[in-house]
Amino acid sequence: MLSSLLIEKNKERMGNIFREHIIILILFLPFLNAGCAKRDIFTQDNWIDLSYDFSEETIFWPTSPSFHKESLFEGQTEKGYYYSAYKFCAAEHGGTHIDAPVHFYEGGNTVDKISVKQLIGHAVVIDISQKTIADPDYQITKEDFLSWENKFGRISDGSIVLLKTGYGKYWPDRKKYMGTDKLGEEAVKELHFPGLHPDGAKWLVENRNIKAIGLDTPSIDYGQSTYFQSHVTLFKANIPAFENVANLDKLPPKGAIVFALPMKTKGGSGGPLRIIAHY
Ligand SMILES: [Zn+2]
Repeated sequence: MLSSLLIEKNKERMGNIFREHIIILILFLPFLNAGCAKRDIFTQDNWIDLSYDFSEETIFWPTSPSFHKESLFEGQTEKGYYYSAYKFCAAEHGGTHIDAPVHFYEGGNTVDKISVKQLIGHAVVIDISQKTIADPDYQITKEDFLSWENKFGRISDGSIVLLKTGYGKYWPDRKKYMGTDKLGEEAVKELHFPGLHPDGAKWLVENRNIKAIGLDTPSIDYGQSTYFQSHVTLFKANIPAFENVANLDKLPPKGAIVFALPMKTKGGSGGPLRIIAHY
């Protein structure tokens, strides 16, 4: 009698211990998963560099000074070790770069004032590369955004919208990429490349809650723009733009995460941008 009572008690105790372990496992499972997922991200290959390198060949706006690098020292020192250091100068708006809102809107954020949170987000990649084949002056409209949403769902709050015009494949051929390889004021009216239509910019700002926008051309407004109204509309809403973004053809329409971290120039209207994505 006593022994069967002890067996029952033991069973009950074992049952309790088992239940406690299951509960602990269930409670901590999400954290274990999150830990694994984080480690996985850094060992996976699906990281995409969306930045071009900076060199004398890098494309800048035809009226801007381009990238220039000079050696301060390069070679063996007297003490026997190798040493190299360079200095560079460049306009803010060339190569893969950010336009801070102050670029076209007085009082808008300077590059150092844009929060890190605004520069990291889920990518929405709008592919209009078929339309730009026939029309290098194509401007992305509200309809392009709506047709993307028809297939992939509403552009969610906090998205970073990337416009894939297909012009990335022309980099660094100035003539194909911008419509002209001339420099200076004369070149500006010969610029031809796609961009965001001012009505498209207005629709995005008024109807969707995006963090930033970017594209694979030299400017968010198309090449023939003279009033740069898409810049103005976006920047008035403190939405920065990334220009000359590389490798957009390697990103899926949705599901990628973007990290776009520019050089933090105090009071800057833009600057070199290292933009990467993971999908
Ligand atoms: Zn710019």
